[in-house]
Amino acid sequence: MIRLPANTSLLSSVIISILLLAVSCSSDTNVVNIYSGRHYQVDEQLFREFTRQTGIRVNLIKADTDQLINRLELEGPNTPADVFITADAGRMIHSMEKGLLQPMNTEIIDQVVPTSLRDPDFYWTGFTKRARVFVYEKSRVSPDELSSYEELTSENWQGRVLVRSSQNHYNQTLMASVVAAHGQEGALDWAKGIVNNMAQPPRGNDRDQVKAIAAGTGDVAIVNTYYMGLLLNSPNQEERNIAQQMGIYFPNQDDRGTHINISGIGITAHASNQENAQKLIEFLLSPPSQMVFAEQNYEYPVNKDVAWPELLQEWGRFKSDTIPLDQLGKHLQPGMIIFNRAGWN
Ligand code: FE
Repeated sequence: MIRLPANTSLLSSVIISILLLAVSCSSDTNVVNIYSGRHYQVDEQLFREFTRQTGIRVNLIKADTDQLINRLELEGPNTPADVFITADAGRMIHSMEKGLLQPMNTEIIDQVVPTSLRDPDFYWTGFTKRARVFVYEKSRVSPDELSSYEELTSENWQGRVLVRSSQNHYNQTLMASVVAAHGQEGALDWAKGIVNNMAQPPRGNDRDQVKAIAAGTGDVAIVNTYYMGLLLNSPNQEERNIAQQMGIYFPNQDDRGTHINISGIGITAHASNQENAQKLIEFLLSPPSQMVFAEQNYEYPVNKDVAWPELLQEWGRFKSDTIPLDQLGKHLQPGMIIFNRAGWN
């Protein structure tokens, strides 16, 4: 609130005019600019809802995550981006290490997000959670045969395993978790064992691995759960048929638990609309938004207070690998070398 002194001088009225101008300009910048490496319809729906509730306009630029990281680096202090979103913890760690993020206001995030799913210094947080599971053909594989990521290297799975390329971030972060569990030599043995059992050289995305099972190329695939939700609810009848032939299996229930990754969000180091960015992050973590991610994109809520929708409940509760995701950062680079040495393209 600006109080005018009784003897307002010309100078102070000029200052006040400038202040008022600044205020009217800031209402023009009632906006938040997002760079996102996620490409799901549900995000845009939630951004529209955020604008409806807050009046804050959302500008969204979607691109390949690594391209966006390069762009943030090149733009430096001139970046228009306030918020950075990726579908992988490894990429959030990477951007933080490059100085592209700044710490967020901790209050809500600390209440809502388990510590294993965010940066300890609040440079990034998960806002949805995904499990990297096995999908198998129900008539050819019994769930009794399955157990762990490690067991997929056994002779039983010779020529039957489908998994995408090591260029994929989901696999890179999965590999980091294997290095964390077994060390680099153990992880190399694992990677060689998987390569040895591959039904075909890695190609396509997670959904394509499921389709390759249906085509008879292999019997079991390493896939993120929500892709099964998307296939089961696809507008395409053939995709729905394929998904119905498949079972979902949560690996490593007898030891460290199934590998978990997140979609992550952070405020850019040079954000001009920091407060709006913070509001958007808190909006995405709120129970109604968390519910939308779970119901429409079949991702698990990070917010512990949010109930799971029917399909996720049907897949069942499971034990998650609770290694704090920020600790996987140091294993990402060694993991890439291991992929290379194992011949996992
Ligand atoms: Fe994805």
